Amino acid sequence: MTGDIVADHQDFDLIVIGAGSGGVRLARMSAAKGARVAVVESRYLGGTCVNVGCVPKKLFVYGSHAGEDIEDSAGYGWSVPGDQVKFDWARLVANKNAEIDRLNGIYARMLDNAGVTVINGTATLADPNTVVVGDQRYSTKHITVATGSWPSIPDVPGSEYMLSSNEMFFLPQLPRQAVVWGGGYIAVEFAGILAGLGVETTLLYRGDLFLRGFDGDIRRFMAQEMVKKGVDLRFGVNIERVESEGGQYQVHLTDGSKLSTGLVMAATGRRALVEGLGLEALGVNMTDSGHVAVDKHFQTAVPSITALGDVIGTPQLTPVALGQGMVLSRRLFGDGQGEMDYSSIPTAVFCQPNIGTVGLTEEEAQEAGYTLRIYRSEFKPMKHTLTGRDERALMKLVVDDETDRVLGAHMVGPEAGEITQGLAVAIKAGATKAQFDSTLGIHPTSAEEFVTMREPVL
Ligand code: NDP
Repeated sequence: MTGDIVADHQDFDLIVIGAGSGGVRLARMSAAKGARVAVVESRYLGGTCVNVGCVPKKLFVYGSHAGEDIEDSAGYGWSVPGDQVKFDWARLVANKNAEIDRLNGIYARMLDNAGVTVINGTATLADPNTVVVGDQRYSTKHITVATGSWPSIPDVPGSEYMLSSNEMFFLPQLPRQAVVWGGGYIAVEFAGILAGLGVETTLLYRGDLFLRGFDGDIRRFMAQEMVKKGVDLRFGVNIERVESEGGQYQVHLTDGSKLSTGLVMAATGRRALVEGLGLEALGVNMTDSGHVAVDKHFQTAVPSITALGDVIGTPQLTPVALGQGMVLSRRLFGDGQGEMDYSSIPTAVFCQPNIGTVGLTEEEAQEAGYTLRIYRSEFKPMKHTLTGRDERALMKLVVDDETDRVLGAHMVGPEAGEITQGLAVAIKAGATKAQFDSTLGIHPTSAEEFVTMREPVL
């Protein structure tokens, strides 16, 4: 068992373990280059993103926000008697499930059309060139581990009562109250979904302000907006234990207080999914955080084994995994060139209102030693001039004073994700503030604010 890449008479050129975003992209791209490719998947085609992540989450966000849209329509002349507005959670879940089934089918067809063999089951690596699934052994030149990540719930007494995002997508019914534990992407997104659907929602976060790593202004602003939407935000507190009593949960907090609730959701991060693969026995190294250790070419310590996506600890974002899949395919079966560029990764958090962000935060830019000009604009989105809703938007540009280059753009407001995608191109291209200023706005939009902020606030 040398781990050398051997070239002769294998069943496949590449076996990808995991049919998530990164694995499927790698498999399809590699098959298109003429490689004989198989994907092993134990659960569902499309991985977390399609089944229990980005896609169903966004559908739930639309569903949740629809309630507000109905209320807001009154300002535009519509009469919607409150007692006639009804929401059916089971119908939303069923419709969401039907859409996910459709997407699973599309993934199956895409792989089939690409000539990729799909093997259903759980993979174990018997040696550096053999993958075992059930009682079948498959030999292969290359193996890529693309097994993704799984919710990680801290081991506190009563953690067995907690649900993760996985289960939230299939909740049989909505509770009256919910406690969401954590202060990252998933916590704020689900707190928004639940509150929008009328659930009395409390978000508990151990630090003094949630969304660590985002721009400070964005974090503070988002907290205000979430409170306006009725989310009970409690910072500087953690869960000590949870007890189950008569269908309710008693959540004991580190500050000595107690909450009674119908549901506790843990959104406390995701760990790499590597159990049972047999990686370490083959000499694949793991990082301190439990991810598969790879170099910048996704190469593990074993020559025939590569890894990509959430399992390697790079940002846990679908477009990152897709990008990695394309780069790795080119490395394995193309001209061998290309590296993944992790600079200025744009991202959105689908809380309500949304957050969109790309490039450096003010804090990161300061830390990096830039002299900064900060531009900031806060306003009531035009839509709410007639709805009366007290929702505000925030936009911010972080500019290097010396070169005039825009280092970061950050936003809280409707469609922040849609707006940020275009800005990401400008920032990636190295646009200066003068170029932003010379770009004409699209009127009337919120987005035009990004090209009309004239005076720095700092
Ligand atoms: P995150 O890492 O974003 O957030 C985890 C949160 O849990 C943090 O607030 C963290 O606190 C807290 N936490 C961790 N451990 C403990 C503990 N032992 N006790 C109390 N609190 C704890 O993870 P998520 O689960 O929210 O999401 C996972 C990843 O999935 C995200 O990082 C993101 O990359 C991706 N994702 C992307 C989305 C998007 O693009 N819109 C949507 C959803 C997920 P602290 O900050 O103090 O460490």
